[in-house]
Amino acid sequence: MRKNIVAGNWKMNKSFQEAEELISSIADELDEKELKCDVIVCPPSLYLEMASDYADESVLSIAAQNVSDHNNGAYTGEISASMLGSMEIAYCIVGHSERRKFFNETDAQLAKKVDQLLDYNLKPVFCVGEQLEERESNTQFAVVRSQMENGLFHLNNEEFLNVIVAYEPIWAIGTGVVATPDQAQEMHSFIRGLISEKYNSETAEQTTILYGGSCNPTNASTLFANKDVDGGLIGGASLKADDFVKIAMSFE
Ligand code: PEP
Repeated sequence: MRKNIVAGNWKMNKSFQEAEELISSIADELDEKELKCDVIVCPPSLYLEMASDYADESVLSIAAQNVSDHNNGAYTGEISASMLGSMEIAYCIVGHSERRKFFNETDAQLAKKVDQLLDYNLKPVFCVGEQLEERESNTQFAVVRSQMENGLFHLNNEEFLNVIVAYEPIWAIGTGVVATPDQAQEMHSFIRGLISEKYNSETAEQTTILYGGSCNPTNASTLFANKDVDGGLIGGASLKADDFVKIAMSFE
């Protein structure tokens, strides 16, 4: 059976001390709960080692927010999949809309990042999602199809089984405008259908597909109750331990 997952993307927030306080509060709160999902925290890369130390003592797993598409060498400022692997980081976000928009990451680069991660046994959390104008012109399915095809569908079946997909409609990210449960379910089911078409129905059934975009403790349970929504990639609400833990407790 596929896993439910809640992942908190901290983006470029928190001082080291604040980050340590946040992860230790999350770890302590989760310790007392009976969880129905895996919980992942994605801190800034500078804090990965500290976060890993907390994760070792708790149910948490750690993800990086980004990785280089190169293996190693003269790429100042970059962090490679081999480095993340050597620190036993388990997951990495790839293709977040902010990386696509502000850092001009292309589908071709994202496909290389996915390959790098899989080479070093990290699981990509691969983000797809349409802009508001694309939804308004009813091209959201074509957009997501092309992101899936160009970023992921070069993988063989065995490789693809390590991928987590996150559907994040860009108009919902950080805006307070959340997709309706029906909109989320419709797109998640479409994505699962694409995976089934490309690979097979078993692979599609095993793939975790997360929703991201203004998910909070109030709306999480109605989103996660949908049959194809297997949890969330959480931005703003992951910066408060109580809110994040409530979201992680939102599975029936
Ligand atoms: C995100 O950036 O991945 C995200 C889902 O942000 P927020 O929850 O703040 O909308």
